[in-house]
Amino acid sequence: MADYDLAIIGGGLNGVSIARDAAGRGLRVILLEQGDLAAGASSASPRLIHGDLASLERRHFLRVRTALAERDIWLRIAPHLVRPKRFAIPAHSDERPDWQLRSWLLLYDRLASRSGLPASATVDVTHHPIGNALKRPFGTAFEYSDCVVDDSRLVVLTAVDAAARGAVIRTGARCTRAERGKEWRLVTIDRGFRQVITARAIVNASGAWTSSVAETVLRVPPPKVAAEQMDQIVVRRLFDSDNIYVFQNRDGRLIFASPYERDFTLIGTANHAFKGDPAIVAMAAGDVAYLCDAANRYFRERIETVDVVRTLSGANMVRNAASGRDGAMTLDHGRGRAPLLTVFGGDVTTSRLRAEQAVSKLTPFYPMSPRWTATAPLPGGDFTWDRFDDEVDEVRERWRFLGEDQARRLVAAYGSNVKAILGDAKERGDLGLAFGPELTGAEVRYLMQREWARFPDDVLWRRSKLGLTMLPEDRDALAAFMAAAM
Ligand SMILES: Cc1cc2nc3c(=O)[nH]c(=O)nc-3n(C[C@H](O)[C@H](O)[C@H](O)COP(=O)(O)OP(=O)(O)OC[C@H]3O[C@@H](n4cnc5c(N)ncnc54)[C@H](O)[C@@H]3O)c2cc1C
Repeated sequence: MADYDLAIIGGGLNGVSIARDAAGRGLRVILLEQGDLAAGASSASPRLIHGDLASLERRHFLRVRTALAERDIWLRIAPHLVRPKRFAIPAHSDERPDWQLRSWLLLYDRLASRSGLPASATVDVTHHPIGNALKRPFGTAFEYSDCVVDDSRLVVLTAVDAAARGAVIRTGARCTRAERGKEWRLVTIDRGFRQVITARAIVNASGAWTSSVAETVLRVPPPKVAAEQMDQIVVRRLFDSDNIYVFQNRDGRLIFASPYERDFTLIGTANHAFKGDPAIVAMAAGDVAYLCDAANRYFRERIETVDVVRTLSGANMVRNAASGRDGAMTLDHGRGRAPLLTVFGGDVTTSRLRAEQAVSKLTPFYPMSPRWTATAPLPGGDFTWDRFDDEVDEVRERWRFLGEDQARRLVAAYGSNVKAILGDAKERGDLGLAFGPELTGAEVRYLMQREWARFPDDVLWRRSKLGLTMLPEDRDALAAFMAAAM
């Protein structure tokens, strides 16, 4: 008998979502990730959980409705990671006419009719906080509801749930070869050691590596795909309101600016074809300038390229250059050829549904239980989204030494599982060493023991974004602590 029913190559959002779905349906699953979870495109997404206004403009109504239904599911199953926001489109006389924006948003409200989020509205920005950060002469903005997500934590908590349902998650494990027969025989380099495992089917969910994994590891013809790169910039906070601004850029694209980790603003996206090694996806200077220019057209506070504190870039496969971020899934099998499922691209909003559809393609090969992921909360997500502030209050009530911001960050990251980190602590010192004002030894130990963190970057950029504010000496102390704890 094969060691596993399903071996998944790639620990991005697609890979972990398939692992969670399949493990919950009773399959014996192993996931192999060559680096850290979410180290690829899945930690560089625009972090939006949305129906996507651009799709509405292209009249892809069914797609928008499906994505809005998924948005509601995310609010139910991940109320800590997925937060509702008000988005604001300042009306610009050179761009889409007001009546057109207004009618789109009315349609958007109709398509999202069951969400419980506030409907769209027209706002006089001269008397509204939205207007404070904007250049004159903006008089009107259109407000609507959508959501944002912490993308890399979504990946990690999906993997945590997959593991809780029996999946084996191996980070630092690169699949180097897979021989195909009635079952697959995989060779991996797992933290420096060669391992051989067998599996009844393989999923290639290796993102921008999909073609090279197909050719060199699986030795099957690579899918006919195009590689796309997506870039965003992080700058100091440009506005006080909690809104997300959506700007109509001169080239007709929608550019967004979002509050990011309390003190920063995330601006995106620039997209173009990608060539090169997916392990090194760097943002071109011209794209940094493009996003700065787009923001400068609207915000009073000017930014220059030197103000950019971090760039976020990801690459993934798309069906073809004209298909935007559309991905695809294909199943290949035959007599004496064990199944190979290839899944790439797609957006964050529909990742749960995509995984459900992908695993369902394997039903002819295994007995499995029915679809389940639409109603099962992710770890720590066992409260309703409108109770987020109450959760924060309860955490502050129980662990009185926590400040408001710290409690908010912990609830957003861990939900109700925050108690597994804070335990019976009565004061901050009970949580062990401090790495800056936020991070404690207790949290780092939790991340190493329960969430596969191995190196400082795993903690500072994927399981949190504390790398944005951490001082070099605290980072060195964290590196020493993690090395000693390994
Ligand atoms: C141009 C572009 C635009 C996008 N726009 C949006 C958007 O507007 N909204 C939105 O929600 N999303 C968007 N996305 C989607 C999103 O960023 C990702 O595509 C999504 O998170 C799914 O990623 P993934 O799992 O396929 O790939 P990744 O996150 O890249 O994961 C693949 C993983 O496979 C691993 N791997 C590779 N080879 C091996 C091997 N041999 N052994 C073991 N592991 C291996 C890699 O290390 C990597 O971690 C966009 C993506 C792109 C590229």
